Amino acid sequence: MIRTGLRNAIFAGSAPHHSPAVAQVRTLLKSIGGFVDAKPVRSYDFISIGSGPAGERAAIIAAQYGRRSAIIEMAARPGGAMVNTGTVASKVLRETALVASALRRRPIPGCEGGVPKGLSMKRFMARRTLAQLEEADHIEDRLEGSGVEIIHGRGEIVDGHTVRVTHDDGSSLLLTTEYILIATGSSPARGKHVDFSHPAIVDADGILELDTMPHSLVIVGAGVIGSEYAGIFGELGVDVTLIEPRNTLLRFLDEEIRAVLLHGMDEVGIKLRFGQSVAKVEGLANGRARTTMADGSTIESDCVLWSLGRNGNTAHIGLENIGIEPDERGNIKVDARYRTSCRSVFAAGDVIGFPALASTSMEQGRVAACHMFDIPFLTKIADTVPIGIYTIPAIGAVGLTEEEAVSGGRDIVVGRAYYRDNPRGRMLGDDTGMLKAIFDRHTRVLLGVSIVGMDATELVHFGQLAIHSGHGIQYLVETCLNYPTLTELYKTAAFDAIAALLAPATAKAAA
Ligand SMILES: Cc1cc2nc3c(=O)[nH]c(=O)nc-3n(C[C@H](O)[C@H](O)[C@H](O)COP(=O)(O)OP(=O)(O)OC[C@H]3O[C@@H](n4cnc5c(N)ncnc54)[C@H](O)[C@@H]3O)c2cc1C
Repeated sequence: MIRTGLRNAIFAGSAPHHSPAVAQVRTLLKSIGGFVDAKPVRSYDFISIGSGPAGERAAIIAAQYGRRSAIIEMAARPGGAMVNTGTVASKVLRETALVASALRRRPIPGCEGGVPKGLSMKRFMARRTLAQLEEADHIEDRLEGSGVEIIHGRGEIVDGHTVRVTHDDGSSLLLTTEYILIATGSSPARGKHVDFSHPAIVDADGILELDTMPHSLVIVGAGVIGSEYAGIFGELGVDVTLIEPRNTLLRFLDEEIRAVLLHGMDEVGIKLRFGQSVAKVEGLANGRARTTMADGSTIESDCVLWSLGRNGNTAHIGLENIGIEPDERGNIKVDARYRTSCRSVFAAGDVIGFPALASTSMEQGRVAACHMFDIPFLTKIADTVPIGIYTIPAIGAVGLTEEEAVSGGRDIVVGRAYYRDNPRGRMLGDDTGMLKAIFDRHTRVLLGVSIVGMDATELVHFGQLAIHSGHGIQYLVETCLNYPTLTELYKTAAFDAIAALLAPATAKAAA
């Protein structure tokens, strides 16, 4: 093993290049792994492999606190799946779909709208491209403004303090650092026997590259991504079939909330096939695809979206050089500080698995950087992490569902509020949405909120703050809220809970 000080001095360029020790080490390096082409160069305090939300936020914190920080990124633009293939892309697409369907959902006599048949996906996605470019520009500005260096190329860990960057032209560079953050994200899991080279068979990355809007779409897998895309394409009038081997979708949701979502999907004509497995997906000579179910039935469609989970991007990043073995999903194990089993190497974001969200990835990255350098700013993520699912209707949830509270032995009272009884909800034309609040029956504090309907992913944050602050029924009824707003649903739910608490007494008095 080469002594760290000497190695750092060599790679940082501070050791005399012609010294016998250097020549000896270079010969050794050459014999053990072909570092020969790598120019010995810069030395850093912090290096992230990956510029998605985890890597970006971590690098910025480290740089803001005076550490020399760099990010290695192999894609042309920064932002990772959050900007380039996932969050931003799919959310802009969803907003565009909602604009396109707005006149159908809220008709104005005399005004017509809708999506023309055979619309080019490129034109439909024009806003997505713009939003992605703007977001990537913002990230580059933020990184540059904080003094974080972006180094383009593929990063590979050589040892706990050294990373090799290989550029597109094959040349490479060695960087030394005090700490490494693995923030390489995840990629769609692909079925082994599914031919993704056929243009009608795509994964979550490929769906954004379609040339024309499909008339029919089969989605295999009703997880968050599959359910969100079902909503987007269903909203546009595409004939969508959503197949899920389990007996329902998004099982972690409150049952009542899920029922409203399923009703909404059914209303736009999405065909739900739960408890059914796919035996085969094949591309046809006519450019379409055929999905064969386990029971032998078949569905032909313009496109099949394969959406059965994601795997951590851990292949070829040099984990074997630091003694780390990822799990079968390619995910890396970390402790509460996001440190791996190698002391100088941390990991954050999708590459550590659940919950694998942009929102959590950025916070994990920040926390990891703070622990690396003992920055007192942040030591953990707050316990109340919200869920935001951009199905149509959207879902927001935080804290306990009713089922979780009951199975956990909590004595609860439930308050419900419906969008159709709320003035803003009526203006928006959302007549199915609901907010469900779970309170402790004795202390009356809020334990959880689940919302389905317009702006649910925004509304949930008010509940998150209330839970975090230990507020409950009393605060919600005392507090004055803007009118007309959807936030008033919280107050309505609190009054509904009070009614439920009083109900036994009222019933007794009536008797
Ligand atoms: C369709 C879809 C919709 C989503 N919607 C949401 C949502 O609404 N809300 C939400 O919170 N989350 C959402 N997500 C999840 C979110 O995008 C991810 O959780 C988040 O991007 C993960 O961040 P990350 O930093 O861990 O990795 P990523 O964002 O994946 O970034 C990893 C980066 O590392 C780079 N990289 C990988 N290997 C190397 C290497 N060896 N060398 C150099 N660079 C490398 C990659 O090029 C990439 O840029 C969605 C995801 C998808 C796919």
